[in-house]
Amino acid sequence: MRKTYQYKLNLTAKQRQEIERWLDMLRAQYNYLLADRFRWWQMNRCNLIVPQGEYCLRWCEIGSSELRNNPDWHSQSASLPLLKKERPWYKNIYSQVLQDCVKRVKLAFERFISGDSKGNRSGRPRFKNKARYRTFTYPSVPDKNLVGSTIRLPKLGILKFRKSRNIEPGFKLKTVSITRYADGYYVNLSVEDKSVPEIEIDTVPTESNTTGIDVGLEKLYVDSENNQSLPQKHLRKSELKLILLQRKLEDSTRSTKAKRLIRKAISRLHQKIARQRKDWHYNEAHKLARRGQVLAVEDLKIRNLKRRNKPKKIDGVFVSNGQASSSGMNKSWGDNGIGNFLEILSQVAQKHGTRIVKVNPRGTSQHCSQCLDRVSKTLSDRWHECDACGLSCDRDYNSALLIKKLAVGSSQDKKLPSLKDLLS
Ligand SMILES: [Zn+2]
Repeated sequence: MRKTYQYKLNLTAKQRQEIERWLDMLRAQYNYLLADRFRWWQMNRCNLIVPQGEYCLRWCEIGSSELRNNPDWHSQSASLPLLKKERPWYKNIYSQVLQDCVKRVKLAFERFISGDSKGNRSGRPRFKNKARYRTFTYPSVPDKNLVGSTIRLPKLGILKFRKSRNIEPGFKLKTVSITRYADGYYVNLSVEDKSVPEIEIDTVPTESNTTGIDVGLEKLYVDSENNQSLPQKHLRKSELKLILLQRKLEDSTRSTKAKRLIRKAISRLHQKIARQRKDWHYNEAHKLARRGQVLAVEDLKIRNLKRRNKPKKIDGVFVSNGQASSSGMNKSWGDNGIGNFLEILSQVAQKHGTRIVKVNPRGTSQHCSQCLDRVSKTLSDRWHECDACGLSCDRDYNSALLIKKLAVGSSQDKKLPSLKDLLS
């Protein structure tokens, strides 16, 4: 299993300066290579869908510039020696780190053009400013370079870090990256841990070993034993503090210097909140993974949940499409980090040997978990009241029970269960 350990670096002033210099140079190179790809794309793409056998009437700037091949990883990597000749200061950067920058451009651009392995496409890659380019990676570092709480990196020398936790023995060091955060520099050690095998867990979900989990907005989750998890007090306290700081920043009477200090405090606080939330997610994930041998969750596509509603038109007139109300909801989906929680949960479950079954989320909030009758609810209805069988409980608890039922029902055939299968 691949794991990442993050440690805070104790850098000397000189090392900090050198890292900043590298980041600046790499950022310039990243932006240049990205622009190079955009340029080629702009000159050669064709927006027209042409019927077979016809000529494509494309307009492009080919005539005004020389013909050349599509810049790819190979041609862009091959341009690096020339770069070092023209700009000798690039020689100070370790060559593999510079090559990794080319790889980053490739990945960003390919996700934009053709999507990742699952076919999910990203938006147009951005040119990065100083705040957005804050990490670089050594693609391979030998194990022997990691001694105690120091790591030796080519061309940067020996870096000290605060060893806040031990790395499990028998590891194999894979990649090392250095990142600037609001409160300093960190080293990320990506490690192959052989003690957790990467096998698929195929425990069959039964009534006794399965826990259904309904993730949600105000509560992180409600499970089929009616346990629930609310955000901790300290997390809420930080969030309140953030609102106050942001209000302070909007106050136009403050000086530029005061505003800069407030902005710094805000970014530190954002970091703190992210950490508190992550800690909470890990704790809850461990609790759940220990509880049952099978965890049933909804197969949520967070990206779809966050998508904007389509415009609605009746008789040529645009009418309300409900975007205003769902905008608030979209924001909460992002804020609560449900996607992150589900990811952490699947990682932790793998460690505990717990299986995660993903069920089709369709209709799980609108049906009764006992008799499967449809009980329509709007988002604001928090209580489930079934007229047919008399079940009366919290709506999220009802969903969790139904999710469990779906997972247990799926044990015969291995395909994803859906409510329709149970109903028929
Ligand atoms: Zn019912």
